[in-house]
Parts: sequence; structure tokens; C-alpha cells
Amino acid sequence: MKWQGRRGSSNVRSSTGGGKMIGGGIGGIIIAGILWLVFGVNPMTALQTGQAVTGGGSESSTELATSTDRDTQFVKVVLADTEEVWHQIFNEAGSTYQEPSLILFNGQVSSACGSASSATGPFYCPGDQTVYLDTSFFVEMRQNLGISGDQQGSGGEENQGKAGDFAQAYVIAHEVGHHVQTLLGISQQVNEARQQVTQAQSNKLSVLQELQADCFAGVWAQRNQERVQFLEAGDIDEAVNAAGQIGDDRLAKASGGAVVPDNFTHGTSQQRVEWFTRGLESGNVQSCDTFSGAL
Ligand SMILES: [Zn+2]
Repeated sequence: MKWQGRRGSSNVRSSTGGGKMIGGGIGGIIIAGILWLVFGVNPMTALQTGQAVTGGGSESSTELATSTDRDTQFVKVVLADTEEVWHQIFNEAGSTYQEPSLILFNGQVSSACGSASSATGPFYCPGDQTVYLDTSFFVEMRQNLGISGDQQGSGGEENQGKAGDFAQAYVIAHEVGHHVQTLLGISQQVNEARQQVTQAQSNKLSVLQELQADCFAGVWAQRNQERVQFLEAGDIDEAVNAAGQIGDDRLAKASGGAVVPDNFTHGTSQQRVEWFTRGLESGNVQSCDTFSGAL
């Protein structure tokens, strides 16, 4: 995956892990109709009805200096790539995309969704509209994918694509997919719906929400490819492999409470690959209606 030389996001921060987060809260997003109808008619309808307040950030977060650290710079570029693409998609629908924050943490972090540790894995917290990534995430992904540590290249153009890069980008794009679900009101509707159905149905809705985030990651990849031609040979296989192998994020509770490990499945590897591919091939969020006929 090519990524060097592109803009890095200014929304990436590091957390020392000690402070309290100020939660923004997503209350107030009320959208009429059920989500699959929203998607069936116009997936962007929800956007016009209300927007969540952006989280207040973290007292303990510090703006990262222009970093030479490869992983940090990589995260900044990938997040900026998602900003560019989702701004484009929202603009096309006559709306405005609100960028999420991303916090890199080490060991322990406090979020509006509760505290989390490295064991939690990457996650998105709707309460503060922030993606949380533990710095050990990169090391683990390289291990999971059987990739030995990557050395800093000599700087040549052909040297910038590193095995595992796109799989990491895919995970970030998946978390940003949850942010898009929050902006669209989908997450809230899923949460509400889950409280009115059986446990089995509730689990199913969670799986469908995860698969949609995979599909949104695919949409992002396609649109970013159109924009900057960043994909290299093997990248898609890499993401498909990651989709199948890597444990998903722990879906954070919308408000309060600890970030708890999932007790539901995230769909089979085949389903995850299928929905990622669907988004990738269409480049269109309307192809990501995982909820159609769900219950
Ligand atoms: Zn997820």
C-alpha cells in the first residue's frame, strides 16, 4: 500500500492513559423509520436530521508533534484518507461529514465508553466519537499475519509499500465505519432495536452492524483508490485475510459502562470477506445494507 507523501490527519492524538475523557454524548439523534428503510430509500436521509456533538477530547491527550514515528505517521495518513473519502461521500449526499478523533494509547485508556486496555483491541466509542488504537496493535497484526517486523525503507518509492500496511488500514477504516454508522444514526437505531428483541436477534443485529462496517471499509478502499491509487498487488488479499483472521474490535457501549468484550460472534470469515468485497466493488454505501430483512 502506498501512503507516504500524503496529508496526515490532525485528529490523531496520543493518550498518556491517566486522565478522564470528556464525553460528548450522542443523545439527540432521533431518526424516524427503521434503518433498513432509511437505507432502502436514501442512506443519507439520516444525515439531514441531526448531528452528534463532537466529543470534547481528552485532558490527558497531547497533540502529537510532527512525528517521525512510522506507525503514527501511517495512522495519520490513513485517517486523513478516510476523512477525504467520507467528506466526498457526505458532500455528494448534500451533507457534511464530521471527522472522528483517533487516540493512540499504550496499556490503558479512559474513554467516554469506559476504560479499556490493550486486550480490548481497536474500538470506536460513539460517546466521544473517537477511534482507539493501542500501539501494540501494529505489532500484533504483523504477528497475526505472519509478517516479520518491517524495517524503515531506504525511502525509495517502490520501498514504501510494506506487507501488512493495508490490513492495518482496513482495521482503521472498519472503526471509522462505526463512526459513519453513528453519524447516520444507524448505531443508535441498532441499540434501540436490540433492546426490543430476543438475545439471539440482538446478537444478529450486532453481527450485521459489524458486517456493515466491513462493507464501509470496502467502500472507502474503492473510493480512495479512485482518488490516489494507493493499492498495490496483494493488498486486497491482505485485507481479506485480516477480515477473516483478526478478532474484531470490542463494540463499545454507547453510553457509560465499561468496554466489555463481545459475547457475540462477528459473522463468519466468509461473511466478513463477502461484505468487504461488496463495498469494494461498488464503492457505494447503498450496497452496504446488511440489515435488509434482518428480523
Ligand atoms: Zn467493529
